[in-house]
Amino acid sequence: MSHLLEVEHLKVTFPTYGGEVQAVRDVSFYVDQGEVVAIVGESGSGKTVTVQTIMGLIPTKNIKDGNIRFNGKEILHLSKKEMRKLKGSEIGMVFQDPMTSLNPTMKIGKQIAEGIRKHQKLSKAEAKQKAIELLRLVGIPNAEERYHQYPHEFSGGMRQRVVIAIALACNPKLLIADEPTTALDVTIQAQILDLMKDLQKKMEMSIILITHDLGVVAEMAQRVIVMYGGTVVETGTVFDIFENPKHPYTWGLLRSIPNLHDKEKKRLIPIEGSPPDLFSPPKGCPFAPRCPYAMEICVEKSPAEFHISNGHTARCWLNDPRAPKVEAFIAAGR
Ligand code: SF4
Repeated sequence: MSHLLEVEHLKVTFPTYGGEVQAVRDVSFYVDQGEVVAIVGESGSGKTVTVQTIMGLIPTKNIKDGNIRFNGKEILHLSKKEMRKLKGSEIGMVFQDPMTSLNPTMKIGKQIAEGIRKHQKLSKAEAKQKAIELLRLVGIPNAEERYHQYPHEFSGGMRQRVVIAIALACNPKLLIADEPTTALDVTIQAQILDLMKDLQKKMEMSIILITHDLGVVAEMAQRVIVMYGGTVVETGTVFDIFENPKHPYTWGLLRSIPNLHDKEKKRLIPIEGSPPDLFSPPKGCPFAPRCPYAMEICVEKSPAEFHISNGHTARCWLNDPRAPKVEAFIAAGR
């Protein structure tokens, strides 16, 4: 079965006065129909640039290599017009801050209806009706009245529901959600995540969820892609990543989840050190300067992709059968 989305060997750079930032370096992954895939990693890991490239938001001149296939069709070098068509009909996007996606001077209903009319041959009245149905679908009470209100008359959570309604207007096969709940308070976060889960099932769509919150990953996703320093360092099912992680960076991320049951460990445990300098990424493993298990080979040679089990891969030399066991490092006081 072919995948809904395939990203292969993607490489994205940005020229700056200080040199060329290698933001995404040889990134490959796939998303199947109907699955939720989370991309996790710290700021600067390349996760947002990766999805922005999928959405056609990165200028072609910055894309140095790779392929992106959607539904079997190459989309990396589509014209602006073709990309707009694809975004309006098959791929939807929800950003972190709903206010950046909404026009503050236009009534909510009109914003949804305009999006519908741009891509579907519906009359004004039909588009209005569909917009109201969408507002109901995303759980906005009194949808007919709310249709005539402006964004500032909605709370943050309600605005994010509207953004989701706009993204769903054309029944997308893929929804890309970039930190969709980060700007919201905890109770509203849970409501929005429940809404997305519910809609994903109802509409059988796929979701790429960008987040730095592993609690959200556990709640929403089936598979996880862990990114670090512009590369994919580990990928697997939620079970693989939470129960059998095979990369020291993933171990660090998991340790940074506050443990509510252990009073001693309520505080986040940050991963020591800073992300790599993407002007001149290390020749070997990008995590080596922060990794307590770094070996000589790690500094010299970029780690191979080790296949741990079906669909579970990790780019870390510790997975080489010839590598010392982690216990040996611990015994040596690392
Ligand atoms: Fe650490 Fe080496 Fe694995 Fe990189 S390859 S994460 S430096 S042990």
